[in-house]
Amino acid sequence: MTVHIYNSQTKQKEVFKPIQAPHVGMYVCGITVYDYCHIGHARVMVCFDMIVRHLRSRGYDVKYVRNITDIDDKIIQRAIENGESTQTLTERFIKAMHEDEAALNVLRPDVEPKATEYITQITDMVQTLVDKGFAYAAANGDVYFRVEKFADYGKLSGKRIEELQSGARVDVNEQKESPLDFVLWKASKPDEPHWSSPWGEGRPGWHIECSAMSKHTIGEHLDIHGGGHDLQFPHHENEIAQSECAHGHTYVNTWMHVGFVNVNNEKMSKSLGNFFTIRDVLKSYPAEVIRFFLLSSHYRNPLNYTTENLDNARAALRRLYGALDGVKLVTPAANLVSQWTDAYNAVMDDDFNTPQAFAVLFDLATEVNKAKATKDQYLAGQLAQLLVSLGNQLGILTSEPSAFLQGGIATDGLSEADIQAKIEARLAAKKAKDFTQADSIRNELKSAGIEILDTPQGTTWRRI
Ligand SMILES: [Zn+2]
Repeated sequence: MTVHIYNSQTKQKEVFKPIQAPHVGMYVCGITVYDYCHIGHARVMVCFDMIVRHLRSRGYDVKYVRNITDIDDKIIQRAIENGESTQTLTERFIKAMHEDEAALNVLRPDVEPKATEYITQITDMVQTLVDKGFAYAAANGDVYFRVEKFADYGKLSGKRIEELQSGARVDVNEQKESPLDFVLWKASKPDEPHWSSPWGEGRPGWHIECSAMSKHTIGEHLDIHGGGHDLQFPHHENEIAQSECAHGHTYVNTWMHVGFVNVNNEKMSKSLGNFFTIRDVLKSYPAEVIRFFLLSSHYRNPLNYTTENLDNARAALRRLYGALDGVKLVTPAANLVSQWTDAYNAVMDDDFNTPQAFAVLFDLATEVNKAKATKDQYLAGQLAQLLVSLGNQLGILTSEPSAFLQGGIATDGLSEADIQAKIEARLAAKKAKDFTQADSIRNELKSAGIEILDTPQGTTWRRI
């Protein structure tokens, strides 16, 4: 068994070799909690959830840490606008984030460190960088990192110090020695939340929080560090600079970045108004459809958010549930297990290729349907059980097939009771040999998007 992972730093797929197998330390940059999570956040959450689930299924003992940024400029600004404390604001949105994640069947990380709970570890690391000459305190109480002192700066993003220097605009910040330097500790303005430090009252910069929290939750050397694509520069580049200068050795073996979510092929942004929160989308689509959609593109590729793509995700899931519908699950024979599990693992071990993993599930669904067509209930039951098990590894196919097929957002205004009443009326009409009436009820339901199925177990229905 060999897992290959694309490393954003070396820009190639590499054989994954944990520092101390089977243990794996994985740190992912989490959310800055001042608003509801959007669909771009959802993609990062769901993709790393999928990655952790797969590594665990392959026998790795993964410690998954994802931080919560609960202090920064945007949080302070929003708390002032709302007339509440930063703590009240962040606690509310942490709770909302957990609700959204639970809806999307995202397993909670093992540790969710909050920046405000690691102030001592953060100031200790800043002090180490000052002591080693990699950082300096400015006259106003800010502390900055001396970018030009770190020869490897740019090794993740491929940006070179000389290019950054020539590209840097004239910096009006007279506190910095060089425009490239970035803040490690910010002196606080009056009325802002603040903590004591050797440089006066202030709060941590964003980059240093991840260097300090990853060290204190996992260690100085991480197997995997991940985040959204936009974090490569400067956030992750600056984390490398801080951690490697503080510790004197490699910080991360494998860097992983999840691609953007676009909306109708445009970048999703608040200013374009094409911005969707997880809560918005949950009003129109079942959570499982959203999860399927988020995994339907390879995690490194951009993902295009359109109603058409979400509808396609719903249709795809309906095909899988349609195969499972009415089949009694049976424990599969060993040869079937190895045949299908090997096919699934082969594509997932290859840099977590979820589109290919879905293709394996569809092949399996086709085989279930063939077995159903030939009335081989035993084979259908075994294959259906495999389909459920492999789907569950991706966090899908967790519903009862009939519940999923009957669910969805009703556009016809028919409640379940209405539908049931019409089915009863149709059966009564059939019994009375009034086939015109029975057909008319069937057609009426069909035009309302409801399909009637007469099975040996009785009449059931599903949304078309
Ligand atoms: Zn981070």
